[in-house]
Amino acid sequence: MSQEIRQSHPYFGQVAVLTTKHEKLPLIAPPLSELVGLQISECKEDTDQLGTFSGEVERTLPPYETAVTKARLGMNKLGIPLGLASEGSIGPDPEVGFFTSNVEYLVFVDDTQDLVISEVFRSFDICAGNLVTEPEAEISAFLVKVDFPNHKLIVTPHSGPKSSVVKGIGSWDELENAIELNAKNSLDGKVVIESDLRAHCSPSRQKNIKNVAALLAKRIATLCVKCQVPGWGRVDYVRGVKCLGCGEIKPNAIKREIFGCTKCEHRELGDVIREFLDPSQCDFCNP
Ligand SMILES: [Zn+2]
Ligand SMILES: [Zn+2]
Repeated sequence: MSQEIRQSHPYFGQVAVLTTKHEKLPLIAPPLSELVGLQISECKEDTDQLGTFSGEVERTLPPYETAVTKARLGMNKLGIPLGLASEGSIGPDPEVGFFTSNVEYLVFVDDTQDLVISEVFRSFDICAGNLVTEPEAEISAFLVKVDFPNHKLIVTPHSGPKSSVVKGIGSWDELENAIELNAKNSLDGKVVIESDLRAHCSPSRQKNIKNVAALLAKRIATLCVKCQVPGWGRVDYVRGVKCLGCGEIKPNAIKREIFGCTKCEHRELGDVIREFLDPSQCDFCNP
């Protein structure tokens, strides 16, 4: 995008607040400043009240709503009508179950225009694991698998109250001490070691947050041709593709993208992604 186009963007030079507890500013701000000219300031609000990865506080809202609520915390605190927040979930993938995936949501809230522009990025490239163990046990294979100490860890007692939890463990000494402490506090003498999935402790998650930020910046940079409001991008798919093997129309198969505006009803069809379904992707021909 040329400098000229960027400077004519409605958000050029404006300030948006990013509410984050876990050092996400360097991950999220660069593409927004490059593509849109938004200046991002950080608000370090304690967002744990909205739910934590390690489960001390249960999340009550779905990730998208949690992110919007989080963005408003910082906007209200700083009195700025533009805000951002991200929210991630890591666990068995919603579609392929068995494999662990990381889904990152990033929202941009504009209260002056009553807009929420959002993006989602789903990745299987996430380093996460857990192990029940005890002091002196051989755990080196597990530590390689979870990429310690590059990725940080959490240790909790296996049984009983979790009050001695140690988070953000990034050295061998810390890990040894945390295992010993939590084993003493555990009713069965065992501990749970797990990946600390907070953004500042997980480089693989950081990469996924950078990816969702790039997607969101691109979407914000794109204006609707009809109403000129930012946030033009894919909103849905046309589904239903005929299988070349059995000739059936598979209702869930994606045929083409539908692009749309965040504000008005304007929609446009994207290029056709596939006219026919390969039998290898058909649940009848290749169950
Ligand atoms: Zn078929
Ligand atoms: Zn529009």
